[in-house]
Amino acid sequence: MTKQSSEGPRNTDSDYFFRKLASGIPGVLFTYWLSADSELHRYLFVSDQVQSILGLDPAVLRKKAGAMFSVIHPDDISGVRMSIAGSVKSLAPWRYQARLKVRAGHYEWFEVHAIPERQIDGSTAWYGQFYNIGHYKELEFTLRDREAESAFQANFQRVIASLSTEFINLSFGTIDQCISKLLETIGRFFAVDRAYVYGFSPDYRVMDNTHEWCSPGVPSLIDTQRNVQTEDFEWWQGKIEEMVSGNKVVFVEALDQLPAGPERELLEQQSVCSMFCVPIRVRGVVTGFFGVDSLRERAWREDQADLLIIVSGLLSGALERHRLESELLNQSIRDPLTTLHNRRYLMPRLNEMLSRVNRYGEHFTMAMFDLDRFKQINDSCGHLGGDYCLRRFADILLEQTRETDVVARFGGEEFVVAFSGVSQADVRDTVSRIICSVRDHDFIFEGRTLPLTVSAGIAAIGELSGIPASPDPLIRLADERVYFAKQAGRDCLVDASGVSRR
Ligand code: GH3
Ligand code: MG
Ligand code: MG
Repeated sequence: MTKQSSEGPRNTDSDYFFRKLASGIPGVLFTYWLSADSELHRYLFVSDQVQSILGLDPAVLRKKAGAMFSVIHPDDISGVRMSIAGSVKSLAPWRYQARLKVRAGHYEWFEVHAIPERQIDGSTAWYGQFYNIGHYKELEFTLRDREAESAFQANFQRVIASLSTEFINLSFGTIDQCISKLLETIGRFFAVDRAYVYGFSPDYRVMDNTHEWCSPGVPSLIDTQRNVQTEDFEWWQGKIEEMVSGNKVVFVEALDQLPAGPERELLEQQSVCSMFCVPIRVRGVVTGFFGVDSLRERAWREDQADLLIIVSGLLSGALERHRLESELLNQSIRDPLTTLHNRRYLMPRLNEMLSRVNRYGEHFTMAMFDLDRFKQINDSCGHLGGDYCLRRFADILLEQTRETDVVARFGGEEFVVAFSGVSQADVRDTVSRIICSVRDHDFIFEGRTLPLTVSAGIAAIGELSGIPASPDPLIRLADERVYFAKQAGRDCLVDASGVSRR
């Protein structure tokens, strides 16, 4: 073994060592020189890597640095120049990040580190290196994205929490306001132009826009979107099918994704560029959908799509609760046999109607009906026959009265109709008509025709002395008159003018 081989190369040429060193570094080592008037610049030294990394000839750069500046990204060039100028002035180490066009033809991020040194003639030389920082940049961008995403998520959580609280505290009857509020909050949060809810008919053939929020200046569509027949929209029908059976979302990022057809035409007409719809499920059944429109194209991140699904879940919950509550409410204020309102509903309604009477002096009349000899009906054809008659009589009452009249089952076979804003003559006509209809109607139960009639007593608010009027004396008077009608032979009405039979 020779001395030379044990001590390594004996070459003492520092230039040789320097070049070797420079070739082992992943970046480019350089000495960049700028004249005092900043007119001339060149590389006093640049390592050969500049060729393999940027495809630039070191020999050219040694004459003139211009080629280096031509590979700087156009958006970064002025920043580079300014940072050089800054370093000339302050003589502080020059450090900068910029995109350079690499040999393969695309841009990548590089960072330069160099120490400036003023020369005797006033020019400046920098000693340093630049190297690829692509993967750090990528990491930085991902982190920034993640940060933005998690800030977005956190804000969203906050929005959803406040909306959920609102839905939980929702008092009965305010669901529509709550849904409108939700649409506005979500619409603003996602910076869309429209947010809406549609309901489907049970056979999914018709859909109805029930709630809508539009950002300022964006035209409302809700009035044009009532009772929409889905059969005219083939593509959309397929989407409904996917929502209903597959719980899928409908997502249109740009209109040109849609096949030419009525849906595309309609969306074009509505200036919609991008839309996102999520099914709403109540008790496991898709009853409608929640959606947002954007009038410009936009990319939806996957997490945003997930958030819209959460919103739809919130809506589903609220609608489900609302349905349950209205069912319960209905159960408590309706008579299950006839489905007419019951006495519990009637009494506060009467008070409410009477307060209007007291305020505005409107007509107010009450008719009380009692089926004649109903016990005999029960005795002759059983309780079920009696029930059948009660249901049919309720139908007659509904057929013969207006929607604004309040019809209720008051007790066993006693019924009340409250008329407000109707003249006494008209009430008497209506009651007469009801009595005649019952008399003429064929109540046929299990093949037998049942002879049913009804007696009525009518009491008008004007007959009572003393204001303010209250329901009790009115009911008492009507009841007394029913009694008189029975005395007079039944199948007739009694009002202030006496017995009337037609
Ligand atoms: P009137 O002409 O004097 O009114 O004779 P009525 O037989 O109708 O006499 P009353 O008012 O005393 O009897 C009412 C009957 O109505 C008694 C009760 O068994 C029957 N009834 C009350 N509620 C129901 C019901 O929900 N179903 C059936 N089938 N019968 C009922
Ligand atoms: Mg009775
Ligand atoms: Mg009776």
